[in-house]
Amino acid sequence: MREIVVVSGKGGTGKTSLTAAFADLAGRAVVCDLDVDAADLHLVLTPALERREDFFSGHEAVIDPARCTGCGICATLCRFGAVLPEGGGYRIDPTRCEGCKVCVSLCPEAAVNFPERRCGEWFTGQTRFGTLVHARLTPGAENSGRLVTLLKKEARAIALADGLELVLCDGSPGIGCPVISSLAGANLAVAVTEPTPSGRHDLERLLELCARLRTRACCVLNKCDLNAAEARAIEELCAARDVEVVARLPHDDIVFEAMLRGRAVTELPGAPMATLLKQAWNRLAALSELGRPAPWRP
Ligand code: SF4
Ligand code: SF4
Repeated sequence: MREIVVVSGKGGTGKTSLTAAFADLAGRAVVCDLDVDAADLHLVLTPALERREDFFSGHEAVIDPARCTGCGICATLCRFGAVLPEGGGYRIDPTRCEGCKVCVSLCPEAAVNFPERRCGEWFTGQTRFGTLVHARLTPGAENSGRLVTLLKKEARAIALADGLELVLCDGSPGIGCPVISSLAGANLAVAVTEPTPSGRHDLERLLELCARLRTRACCVLNKCDLNAAEARAIEELCAARDVEVVARLPHDDIVFEAMLRGRAVTELPGAPMATLLKQAWNRLAALSELGRPAPWRP
């Protein structure tokens, strides 16, 4: 089984539009939205819900008012200001609670419970391109790296059960914990960037991360006609790192139009962009068949 992950140094580079187009071109694959902090692939793929599960991560403190005497010890001890007075007693603000367990351990009445924290939910559903695995993180919830790992595991299990050879992921942006989880075990990272100084800087960091993780990477240069000098600089950066630029996509309003219509670009008739994407897909599908790159040398 192969796993291709579309990533970018930051959000808003066209990662989701590309993933939707690749999902169309891939044919038989499980598609997985790992951009859990801003999941929007489902808006294009419009899945029919099959399964919905809660996602728990870590614990949070909850005061049992039946046992609480209102002594205030927990409020004094909490270093995060999460214990707030309420109606003569106290309550815990879940958005501030860091789950340090101090109040749980030191409450003289054992009035503080410590249940698992519900951080969001995840789903599977059927789309016109096959199964989609995606999630919705509760606003303010953290630990999205764990949720990414869970989604990937589910996507792989579905691919295995359905005899499918490919898992195609819309990865998390940036280079933090969620993107490291996105890249774990992937055969190919498709790094999407735009020709701007910040795009080049973000790409450089992302390629370095891929090299450290020994994840093979290729590059899609989006809106390549935006800035010729920066486009050249990105080409040079990729060449120096032995990273193939599999597509140079000019700015085209059709990408926005496709998004508005809830379609992949490749589904719109006569779009020249579709031909470029098809060529890119063929190339990156071939790259994903290669083994891991040589170990990273700083
Ligand atoms: S320490 Fe325990 S009993 Fe005292 S206010 Fe907090 S929860 Fe209530
Ligand atoms: S678990 Fe820690 S952070 Fe949460 S309310 Fe208790 S003392 Fe504060």
